[in-house]
Amino acid sequence: MTAPLPIDDHTQLFVLTGAGISAESGIATFRDAGGLWENHKVEEVASPLGFAVNPELVWRFYGARRKAALAVAPNAAHHALAKLAARLGDRLFLATQNVDPLHQKAAQEERARHQANDDLPSILCAMHGELFKTRCSREACTEAPFYDERCDFEELPRCPCGSLQRPHIVWFGEIPFEMHTIKRRVQACSLFVTIGSSGAVYPAAGLVREIRYRQSQGEAVRSVYVGLERPENADSFDELHLGRATEIVPALLGV
Ligand code: NAD
Ligand code: ZN
Repeated sequence: MTAPLPIDDHTQLFVLTGAGISAESGIATFRDAGGLWENHKVEEVASPLGFAVNPELVWRFYGARRKAALAVAPNAAHHALAKLAARLGDRLFLATQNVDPLHQKAAQEERARHQANDDLPSILCAMHGELFKTRCSREACTEAPFYDERCDFEELPRCPCGSLQRPHIVWFGEIPFEMHTIKRRVQACSLFVTIGSSGAVYPAAGLVREIRYRQSQGEAVRSVYVGLERPENADSFDELHLGRATEIVPALLGV
């Protein structure tokens, strides 16, 4: 039995999620895919160079990812976090490496249950981008990214500025979104929880080191990992809870 974490009126909670939290919803983790996605090398479909070389292939690949993601639903771990968000408000900050929309869907369902219809909470940061968003491939372009459910790309989509549009995703070699806010929230939290992340993709995997540093300065802050197996950065955590996210997360969060 997993004992709930001590989350009270003073807790400032930072949660980082990875592909493992969505695995039981039916989305393959990076590791399960063995470095290949649908028989493509990762750098062909998930790097700026890959897009420059073959944008048709990249759009076909993300169109298929969008189609697959439309068919899946949030699981008990996403729902537990959405329930906790409703209770803690902005004392919870959730950074996800996932590009799937399952945290957002769980939050929407939670709000529907409470008949609240405000905007998506600003506490959710999709640091590697969102599968259902598109943006301009020209970095200096001022057109805003937009929600986009298209899955078929017969013709490559173009921005009003004339450049090709690209998936919103942060690719290998690119800097994640909102790193400044993320670092600030890690420095201010009292409890740091990572769920289902192999600890191999940086800078996300390095965030827990800030908790070790703060502990060395005498600060009272605790770090916890939840996942199927020991992550590569296991030594940086105070506690590991090894098992399925859908079983451990609701019990650990006490919701
Ligand atoms: P990863 O695939 O490298 O690691 C997944 C981790 O989850 C592993 O440590 C594994 O043991 C654990 N895991 C698997 N099933 C689990 C379960 N049922 N419960 C708990 N833990 C489980 O994932 P990562 O660390 O997030 O890094 C992969 C990169 O690929 C990220 O940058 C991410 O953006 C991207 N990605 C995203 C998705 C998605 O959006 N769902 C899916 C695959 C990859
Ligand atoms: Zn543009």
